[in-house]
Amino acid sequence: MKLPTMKALQLQGLNQLVPVILPLPVPKANEVLIRTAVTTICTSDLHDIRNNPFAIKLPSVLGHEGAGTIVQCGQDVRQFSIGMRVAAHPVVPCGVCVECQRGFGHLCLNMGHLGIDRAGTFSEYFVQRADRVRELPDGISFSLGALLEPVANCLQAISRAGDIKGKVVFVVGDGPFGNIIARLAQRAGAARVLVAGKEPFRLGIIPGVEIVNTHPVASVDVAILAVSSADAFFTCMAALRKRGRLVVFSLLKEPVPVDLFNLHISELEIVGCCNDEDKIDESLACLQDPALKLSDLVTHEIPFENWEQAFYLARDRHDKALKVALIF
Ligand SMILES: [Zn+2]
Ligand SMILES: [Zn+2]
Repeated sequence: MKLPTMKALQLQGLNQLVPVILPLPVPKANEVLIRTAVTTICTSDLHDIRNNPFAIKLPSVLGHEGAGTIVQCGQDVRQFSIGMRVAAHPVVPCGVCVECQRGFGHLCLNMGHLGIDRAGTFSEYFVQRADRVRELPDGISFSLGALLEPVANCLQAISRAGDIKGKVVFVVGDGPFGNIIARLAQRAGAARVLVAGKEPFRLGIIPGVEIVNTHPVASVDVAILAVSSADAFFTCMAALRKRGRLVVFSLLKEPVPVDLFNLHISELEIVGCCNDEDKIDESLACLQDPALKLSDLVTHEIPFENWEQAFYLARDRHDKALKVALIF
């Protein structure tokens, strides 16, 4: 018998993305098999393709932002049935390690992650543990649904910022994450949201914020680093008022100097932010909130066959692209 196969994109070496035909994955008892409708390209996919900072074992199918239709359920799965429209969160906490036990599944010591330690969503089908999957309400398109995890991650940035009601929040970075964080900061009640970035197009589609590219920023309560740049880190630190807090959302691989004297005399705080602490359902609510206009983020829907164009747009065309979706 000929086994069923699927189209997928495999990273075979740095900067070597190759279309391949692979066998269909088989869901385990607690997993579902999803036929991908849409997978969006994440900034971290672009980093993985260029540098592989997480040392993903190659060859591997990347991609971790996926939405589609359930086509098979493992024998223990009760909450889903075939044909349901769903989106998946890529993080798979083990549930038993010390971090999971104290409620930090997003910092799991044995963490599974679509597109990192297992096949991801840049393929016609993918499997995910059922508890990390949500049914999409009517009215949420697959493209919007694919943003379930990036929005959840950005909710974590807001939660790590503390209570920002009535405060001045400064977001540095105009990529998809900075764009989402700026919207969520307003939803969380910030008095003012300032955003710095390089691309007028990307800055221009964030509703209700102040763009502060050209002048130095000072006296903010919270700065959020949403771009992988040491300069941006210094910009954030320089902008904090006394007792200000910096949330390090984007990843900097190289060490950066920190002025501990200033941190001491100003009682500054620097906090990290990685993955999200079970923000899946809040993210789903955000996707349905028309005020956030999150569907504006998906600027391009490209058929899977034209994947090279999709990655070009996501990587090189920041003047007109934000989130680029691959459509099956
Ligand atoms: Zn991502
Ligand atoms: Zn764990």
